[in-house]
Amino acid sequence: MNTKLLINGKFVAGQGSKENVLDPATGKTLVAIAEASAAQIASAVEAAAAAFPSWSATVPKDRAALLLKVADRIEAEAAEYASLESQNCGKPYSAVLNDEIPAIADVFRFFAGAARTLHGAVAGEYLPGFTSMVRRDPIGVVASIAPWNYPLMMAAWKLSPALAAGNTVVIKPSEQTPLTAFKLATLLAELFPPGVVNVVYGRGATVGAALIAQSKVSMISLTGDVATGEKILQAASKGAKRTHLELGGKAPVIVFDDADLKAVVSGVRTFGFYNAGQDCTAACRIYAGPKIYDNLVADLTSAVSSIKVGRQQEEGVEMGPLISAKQLSRVEGFVNRAGDKKHIEVTTGGKIRGGKGFFFEPTIIAGARQSDEIVRREVFGPVVSVTRFKDADQAIEWANDSDYGLASSVWTSDVSKAMKVAARLQYGCTWINTHFMLVSEMPHGGMKRSGYGKDLSTYALEDYSVVRHVMVKL
Ligand code: NAD
Repeated sequence: MNTKLLINGKFVAGQGSKENVLDPATGKTLVAIAEASAAQIASAVEAAAAAFPSWSATVPKDRAALLLKVADRIEAEAAEYASLESQNCGKPYSAVLNDEIPAIADVFRFFAGAARTLHGAVAGEYLPGFTSMVRRDPIGVVASIAPWNYPLMMAAWKLSPALAAGNTVVIKPSEQTPLTAFKLATLLAELFPPGVVNVVYGRGATVGAALIAQSKVSMISLTGDVATGEKILQAASKGAKRTHLELGGKAPVIVFDDADLKAVVSGVRTFGFYNAGQDCTAACRIYAGPKIYDNLVADLTSAVSSIKVGRQQEEGVEMGPLISAKQLSRVEGFVNRAGDKKHIEVTTGGKIRGGKGFFFEPTIIAGARQSDEIVRREVFGPVVSVTRFKDADQAIEWANDSDYGLASSVWTSDVSKAMKVAARLQYGCTWINTHFMLVSEMPHGGMKRSGYGKDLSTYALEDYSVVRHVMVKL
């Protein structure tokens, strides 16, 4: 298992203090890894800056060829990647292997193709005797900072558009889940010229903060918490660095009385509890119509109580543990405070599962009100609240009454109603009669405090490139 940093094409042991990387299903340490020192962080950025002139001058088809090789190799080594990811995150092995790895390979393939479509939109004469054109060019050194919930996927989302557009990158995976990024580093070192991609490791407050403060970093890309995003914006103000922020979420799920109840129940059972609910788009905040509410709570309660919770490789396991003891007690705190309210009923789950590991029971919280903390704050755990609304206006008002603006869904058999509601929702994505489905061709990203960076799609290529005007005197 590689646990060395990748700096300028070479693998070097971190020279900072050691961090324990855990298996969340047992709480045991898998490996202790040394963080990058200040000097190593500076060298990684220097290497990326030195590699930029030649890498940015490569033609798109050559960059595309390398990204295609990355996709092929990830697929060829799918079992090893899935095993590392599931051990380090506690995720069911089969979910990583069958859901995440194919999506990750597809992201590299998409950006390989998209790299070849990047062009300026204009060439023309706007002053007599002058020809103007627009170019789209790479930005420079990108510092990419990833979260712990989908480590390899977030690395793919960050690396592939940045590299496709011709930037060089220093990426820092989460201190809690670096193992697949370290494995990916061995592949990237083999394929890419030295310095084009560098991988450093360590905590946010130490390594992350030192990385983004480097003067040769031109852009900072973060997927993480809103509070971290705010810190990044402050740090980016020094040097006026570009930022790409993908922050938290609290996805509303509006269920009208005419919705297909079975489909809603099955959808929320899957999309509310995937990755143990540690997902910024998790279907966690249900608003149910007055007539469907009782049946929805009853059916959802029984469906969710059947979710099989267990360790990574257990037969039929559907949901694993939370990422850490800290996250476990945070989720427990939210559920306990909700359960203390008279109007709330915890209809299933609600507790930490005894024994080893950081397991929390899949939980449904019925009778929640719009003002309740459980409806307003991101829990990032296997907890779904259900709130009854009286009409469409109230549902839309409550759905939009949130600091977050990442993802939402509307469930109804009336297409016109769905379209009208979707148009009024202030979310980066609205799904109709489904939730959580991502495709590489479509943008993923938020509004409001969920941030403004777009991942996936050609919009991500735009975010990782700059529009320039070139004028020729004729
Ligand atoms: P986090 O903000 O604690 O950490 C994210 C990354 O930022 C980590 O690598 C961390 O080391 C680093 N970091 C922390 N402080 C830093 C600082 N001062 N300077 C530089 N780097 C710093 O988030 P997390 O707990 O790892 O992930 C969970 C959060 O991520 C949730 O809020 C979730 O909603 C969000 N998320 C959003 C998306 C999205 O697409 N919008 C996707 C996944 C996760």
